[in-house]
Amino acid sequence: MIDDMIREKIVGASSIGITSHIRPDGDAIGASLGLGMALLNIGKKVQVVLKDGISSTFRHLPGADLVKRAFEPGIDLMIVDDCSDLIRTGGVLGDRIPDINIDHHITNELFAEVNLVEPDSVATSAILAKHMPFWGLSFTPEIAKTLLTGILSDSIGFRTSNTTSESLRLAAGLMDVGADISELYNKALLTHSYEATKFWGFALARMQRENGLVWTALTLDDRKASGYFGNDDADLTNLLSSIESYEVAVLFIEQSITRTRVSWRSAGEFDISNLAHEMGGGGHPNAAGAELEGTLAEVQEKVLRMTQDYLKQVKSYAINSDGDRK
Ligand code: AMP
Ligand code: MN
Ligand code: MN
Repeated sequence: MIDDMIREKIVGASSIGITSHIRPDGDAIGASLGLGMALLNIGKKVQVVLKDGISSTFRHLPGADLVKRAFEPGIDLMIVDDCSDLIRTGGVLGDRIPDINIDHHITNELFAEVNLVEPDSVATSAILAKHMPFWGLSFTPEIAKTLLTGILSDSIGFRTSNTTSESLRLAAGLMDVGADISELYNKALLTHSYEATKFWGFALARMQRENGLVWTALTLDDRKASGYFGNDDADLTNLLSSIESYEVAVLFIEQSITRTRVSWRSAGEFDISNLAHEMGGGGHPNAAGAELEGTLAEVQEKVLRMTQDYLKQVKSYAINSDGDRK
């Protein structure tokens, strides 16, 4: 069984490396720190590497100081978490194939020797909360805080449609160990800096909509003008996903004059993970992303066209299959 395989690999290793995806979100950070601290507690040497470090939103988490930007040699066991493909690690692995892959992305490419991938899980941190006891790892209040932060952050505070009673039971278990849900919720989801809020303002002012699609962009100039220097979207996608009666929300984030990031959020039955995967990215049915070559204007034109076509296709399929049933 997969839990036995993972336990044996952990028992047999003395030096363990952990990494996740670039521009790490609360789940990538929470899962990496929680697993890292649990392995330290059973006497393993541990290196936690995140290519982009930890954004200020999550720097309060226990174990944040463990994080480095690159691995030192001598690792026996390499674990990748919350990461659907190896490119998303940002090159920190070189050409090393990881031993263990722990993830919940439906687009996961099963790149490791042992792949614990549960697409129905609300967060990688929830997978850890469920499986760690089977690997001989236990929870301390510090570990519980990081894992609960991961669950809260990927489920946007238990709002996403993949939130289940199991997600809540796992979260409750972490609260029993000593994680304060209201404090963690506030820090992970409700608190935003003045600069981040100003950054949103620029994008919100140019928001547009058409046929169930809502979109806007964050430009390099907005970043400069607002003084927000994190390299992420400052959580604006979560706000877009709260807009009433949209089907798909798209945020374009200018990275440089030749690269643009795209974040999709969809409501209900619109599965945008395939669309993102087709464009070289990945994600979940209702939340996906990709990074594309091209100026902001070029990427925006192409992606909006493809997303509109996709929406039309899904809608006409729904009408036709309704028709068939009658
Ligand atoms: P984001 O829009 O960046 O918050 O990402 C939404 C979801 O899609 C997250 O689960 C990401 O891990 C995933 N995702 C975003 N960008 C990519 C990408 N370039 N490749 C694969 N997965 C991605
Ligand atoms: Mn993530
Ligand atoms: Mn995740």
